[in-house]
Amino acid sequence: MPVPWLREGMGSFFAVNSAVLVVGDGPPAEAAVSALRAHPVFWVGATAEPGVHVMAYADESVLEVRGQRGRFRVQLEGKQGKLWLECGNVVLAPSLKRTLDPSWHLPASCLAAPVSRAALLPVERGPVVFLQGAGEAEGAFSAVTALREALCLAERQVEVYFFFGDLGVSWPGLEEVHQEARNLGVRFIRLSNPSALRVDEEGELLRVRYTDACLPGSPEFSLTATHVFAGEVARPGPDFAELARIFRVDRDRWGFLQSDNVRLFPVRTNRPGVYVLGEARGPAFTGEAGLDAAAIAGETAPFLAGEIFVAEPWLRVDPARCSFCLECDRHCPAGALEVNRARKTVQVSPLACLGCGICAGVCSEHAIAYPGPETKSGRRQGKTIVFACEKSGYLAAQSIPLPAWAATLEVIPLPCAGRVDEGMVLRALAQGAVRVIVSACREECCHYSNGERLAEEKVRALKEHLGSMGLNPGRVTLVRASANAPREWLGLVREIVAGDGTGPGETGMEKCAKT
Ligand code: SF4
Ligand code: SF4
Repeated sequence: MPVPWLREGMGSFFAVNSAVLVVGDGPPAEAAVSALRAHPVFWVGATAEPGVHVMAYADESVLEVRGQRGRFRVQLEGKQGKLWLECGNVVLAPSLKRTLDPSWHLPASCLAAPVSRAALLPVERGPVVFLQGAGEAEGAFSAVTALREALCLAERQVEVYFFFGDLGVSWPGLEEVHQEARNLGVRFIRLSNPSALRVDEEGELLRVRYTDACLPGSPEFSLTATHVFAGEVARPGPDFAELARIFRVDRDRWGFLQSDNVRLFPVRTNRPGVYVLGEARGPAFTGEAGLDAAAIAGETAPFLAGEIFVAEPWLRVDPARCSFCLECDRHCPAGALEVNRARKTVQVSPLACLGCGICAGVCSEHAIAYPGPETKSGRRQGKTIVFACEKSGYLAAQSIPLPAWAATLEVIPLPCAGRVDEGMVLRALAQGAVRVIVSACREECCHYSNGERLAEEKVRALKEHLGSMGLNPGRVTLVRASANAPREWLGLVREIVAGDGTGPGETGMEKCAKT
């Protein structure tokens, strides 16, 4: 289709599949299926009555995934055997399996309900009681969910009491939720001995009693409540790990499927075209899955046109150089390499590539061209070359006035520190640089999942290589800093420049030039 404003070389349209695969069997998956009603939807794990736009696969599970965003091929396995589906995007919505925490001693006929369902119940004025943090079993998820559900009820003018033992939780944003709940009038009561709390039936109400054994003579605390919501044992199960493995999606340290950016892009993952929502990505309050589903529908809407425009430049693999070692595919954080095993060819998918350059950095055959400022030639006599990740070290360097001693620094941006390769460093040394510093993100803060670890491995290998050539291994160093710590970054660089003893007299340029 000719587009008037599009000039040759600006980019191309790529045909894409508008169907979406939803994987999950709980309310978050239902929310996704409902929000994606403009798309054809394949629903694996379907529990509700599907709409006309939905093909339900209630008894199947995902076996294998091939392809990239816009053109996924997904193999399912079920009672009827195996089948392949084709879709443009995927939504992962596994549910947590919950049981009430057995540490709370509640009467069998008690109206106690799990905290994650509190805001769904028709609670009018209360008072309601939350019981949280009696033992180890509940885990972080339950505590965060309880706080958020309490907040939802408080916003509806319900009188809320929050009894808690040891929450043992440190979660991004938790402090804000806690403060907001306090501001809305939620009363927090710390229990030094949660097992001393008792709940008894009183007609249609529940009486909650507690005496603090640590304060001799303290009066009994007693109130009647319309509802008691008890903490749950709820953690990501093995299905989270299995989905992460199959779809090549990162997980966080608690086992949830990791968002690409919890504040800016919470429903995206490291893999373009694979989305997560609700409790699949972390503690979620009632209704959050619906908000996530709406955000995903916004992300997938352009696929309804059947084609997507991608601007040049994008990476290309030179088939004449490629040895089909698949190192690029193993390290790509986005799963963006199209691998054709029959023809033994590899290509970068412009629809899925994030432009991190990691594949070019690990390709020993230099089959992936990634031209950038790091490849320029020139004299670097006496300079300190800093190859800096443009999302951390480079931003730090740009945001601080550099002092006089830093006049010999040449800070070169890389899309990711994992892009650095041996040739780049040796070339800089051969051009006369005194030393090379690779500036990476802090540990586990890499925008591209594994770039900072890769950079560390490469610097270690380079040091060994320099040592084997009779050069000072200290001439290549790794520093880690974040973008918002420019003084720290400058201090680390200053330490290296002042303290490694590498002077212009021991550059070993001739040896480098021969390599
Ligand atoms: S790393 Fe390089 S040589 Fe190996 S498969 Fe990828 S492009 Fe080909
Ligand atoms: S540039 Fe990064 S995202 Fe793109 S193909 Fe290479 S490794 Fe994957």
